[in-house]
Amino acid sequence: MRIVALAGGIGGARFLRGLLAAVGPQDEITVIGNTGDDIHLYGLKVCPDLDTVMYTLGGGINEEQGWGRQDETWSIKAEMKEYGVGPEWFGLGDRDFATHLVRSQMLTAGYSLSQVTEALCVRWKPGVRLLPMSDDRVETHVRITDEQGTRAVHFQEYWVRLHAAVDAEAIIPVGADTAKPAPGVLEAIAQADVILFPPSNPVVSIGTILAVPGIREAVAAAPAPVVGLSPIIGGAPVRGMADKVLAAVGVEATAEAVAVNYGSALLDGWLVDTADADAVAAVEAAGIACRAVPLLMTDVEATAEMARAALALAEQVRA
Ligand code: GDP
Ligand code: CA
Repeated sequence: MRIVALAGGIGGARFLRGLLAAVGPQDEITVIGNTGDDIHLYGLKVCPDLDTVMYTLGGGINEEQGWGRQDETWSIKAEMKEYGVGPEWFGLGDRDFATHLVRSQMLTAGYSLSQVTEALCVRWKPGVRLLPMSDDRVETHVRITDEQGTRAVHFQEYWVRLHAAVDAEAIIPVGADTAKPAPGVLEAIAQADVILFPPSNPVVSIGTILAVPGIREAVAAAPAPVVGLSPIIGGAPVRGMADKVLAAVGVEATAEAVAVNYGSALLDGWLVDTADADAVAAVEAAGIACRAVPLLMTDVEATAEMARAALALAEQVRA
């Protein structure tokens, strides 16, 4: 079976680990990763979501944090601080720096982001084919109003420095409108047997991937069933601040509203948590097959069970 999954960072990566545990060795998984979170720091290109997927599936992730390397040290950051060079609010550890150095060196030499990602994965062996959504530069910006007035800040500044404490007024994936899907992305979607939306952020992870012209259309046109898992349980994101960016696009932070916002043109099936079982009827009324199953990724086995439920729903809607 050829499975395609669109993925952000932590939510996507944890789900993929369960998916890998649920499928057989003959199944092929292609992950289309969000690059709208990418940021240039210290002259280096940092791709937080691609790296979270790569480190999580490759066994190098800091499990407690959910991002960054395990057994990390912070000498470079401390040295930069001595020079008065920031930003202090973004955590790049020494081990992590090596990834960004290799990536930036290869990009400077003329390789594309997909070629670089493939090269980094030679080391990490994530067990999936990891494709960036695009080789073109896309950066999500967030419009806010604070004491400095109305302005746009980089998504990382909004998320990491401001902890999404200010209301997001608009989410702008800068560059997305002219970006092209990376090589292999549209082919993978067209040839998939199943397409999955992990419980990633629907706005700044999956939404950004779908904003690359051609990708949303390819998913909608794909012969494969498309099944998503809700990142919202009981009216709140399980971790993080997805409710803030949902509000910016006028979508309520409920499992039902997120499904209806993707819409039946994209989604054939949707899984909500058992806590949201009363949303099933409304989602089905919107033309999307819906089941309530436990959706907390407490460990790999619980997550694998979620992946099995998603694949089972895909089979039901295929018929
Ligand atoms: P990010 O790029 O690191 O923010 O990660 P993603 O976009 O891939 O996923 C973030 C989303 O994962 C958040 O909106 C969370 O609500 C969701 N999430 C995290 N843990 C869980 C979980 O255990 N179950 C479910 N259903 N969603 C989760
Ligand atoms: Ca992200």
